[in-house]
Amino acid sequence: MTTRTSLVAKPKQRRSLYLGERGKLLLGYTAIMLIPFLATYALDMQLKTTYAFALSAMNTLAMMMFYLQFPLGSRLKKIAWFANIDWNMTHHKKVGQWLGLIFFLHPILILAPRFSMSWGDGITSVITTVTASNMLIGVIAWVSMVVWILLSIFKQRLPIRYETWRLTHMMGFVTIIVLATVHITNIGQHGQYAPWFNVIWWGLCSFSVMMVLFNYFVKPILLKRQPFELTEVTQVSSRDWQVTLKTNNDAFDFEPGQFVWFNTTAPGGLKNAAKEHPFSIASSRSSLPNLSFLIRNLGDYTSQLGTLKIGQNVYVDGPYGSMSLHDSAKAKAILLIAGGAGIGPMLSLLRGLADQNDTRPIRLIYGNNQLDQMVLQEDILQLETTMANFKQQLVSLDKGKNAYQGVIDQTIISRLIEPHPTADWSVYLCGPQPMVEGVQGSLKKLSIANRHIHFEHLSF
Ligand SMILES: Cc1cc2nc3c(=O)[nH]c(=O)nc-3n(C[C@H](O)[C@H](O)[C@H](O)COP(=O)(O)OP(=O)(O)OC[C@H]3O[C@@H](n4cnc5c(N)ncnc54)[C@H](O)[C@@H]3O)c2cc1C
Repeated sequence: MTTRTSLVAKPKQRRSLYLGERGKLLLGYTAIMLIPFLATYALDMQLKTTYAFALSAMNTLAMMMFYLQFPLGSRLKKIAWFANIDWNMTHHKKVGQWLGLIFFLHPILILAPRFSMSWGDGITSVITTVTASNMLIGVIAWVSMVVWILLSIFKQRLPIRYETWRLTHMMGFVTIIVLATVHITNIGQHGQYAPWFNVIWWGLCSFSVMMVLFNYFVKPILLKRQPFELTEVTQVSSRDWQVTLKTNNDAFDFEPGQFVWFNTTAPGGLKNAAKEHPFSIASSRSSLPNLSFLIRNLGDYTSQLGTLKIGQNVYVDGPYGSMSLHDSAKAKAILLIAGGAGIGPMLSLLRGLADQNDTRPIRLIYGNNQLDQMVLQEDILQLETTMANFKQQLVSLDKGKNAYQGVIDQTIISRLIEPHPTADWSVYLCGPQPMVEGVQGSLKKLSIANRHIHFEHLSF
């Protein structure tokens, strides 16, 4: 029970990672990124021109960004710096796109000055560089980098399973980082000037590869030691399942609004490790040791949940995620907005508020294309009668007695939050990305400050 107690007793400590600390994280990452660049001063390298200086800065920063992509993409919840998985994944994707551009430009910027002398010199330099034997590894790394970044940007359009993409993504980038490190330690001017500089690069490369080895080979062994038991799989709408797990681990705890990765195949080996899926917890802490999830049938894995065997083991990695009731501790009123499968974390927050006998005005806007996709209506209507000041508003494209017809827009939000001033509200929001972005736009028009909006997309 120790962890469970400590979560309640030290909200401030946990909160420091959730709120207002994003700027600090950004600052911290930027500071780490600068280390190799600053180390070039220790070498006292004579970079002849401003252009050479700018290239040196860009190359060292880009390599450091590349190494940092590995802890950002890993789940290292025990290391505070890397524990904020939402922040990590958002920046992992953004940084990845910048890296793609910088590495694409890398050879072009190196060779560009030769073209300024003459086109003939430029072309000769390109041919000599591309065909030089000591450049082969760099050329392979460069081409692979461009291809792998394009595969990441367009992953939703590829005709392959997400699991296959994820394995390919991981194995590809591990290979590329090793090749890139071989390239910079053999060709890079910093290492040639002072060999100890290469020790930094290889240290960073080893750290990055170790992150991956830990996630794919060590973590599965740890998860296997404490399996959860599957106790329920019920179809709760034409497209949704309620899945319940039971844990024997007294130390397992979570905050309402968090999610876990769960794997119904025994983890072990590369292939099985990639079969895990992220799902938000829909129950509150008072239901522990039981943990429930609301899962929408969206693809090959979620459509087969009905074939799982009651009593079988499920391997749970988590909890993760930064949405928490601590975010709204000072708010006078709370608005929960769920789109489709986003109802899971909103229900967890609502149940958490009910457990605390919260008397503030609490509103839930729950949207689905069709009315028959609204799940657990009995439970939610029950909470309307037992909680001091809670109301639900359904939103659907279907016409229905108590439903607002359409999508979750400014009209329905403002109708629900009146007569309380917008500054009173803390808003939680979860659903598919287009819905989250649309609602964020409506909240902005209603002048609800960004710092009062806490959201989660259902995809990385
Ligand atoms: C933080 C978070 C919380 C989530 N909570 C819920 C929830 O409470 N209820 C719910 O119904 N859905 C939730 N999802 C979405 C859920 O993870 C996907 O719908 C599910 O994994 C789809 O798997 P599939 O094989 O059935 O579908 P697919 O057709 O394979 O995938 C559909 C989409 O789901 C995503 N996805 C698929 N597999 C994975 C994976 N292994 N890891 C990460 N993303 C994947 C990809 O974006 C993919 O394009 C959540 C997602 C995230 C990121």
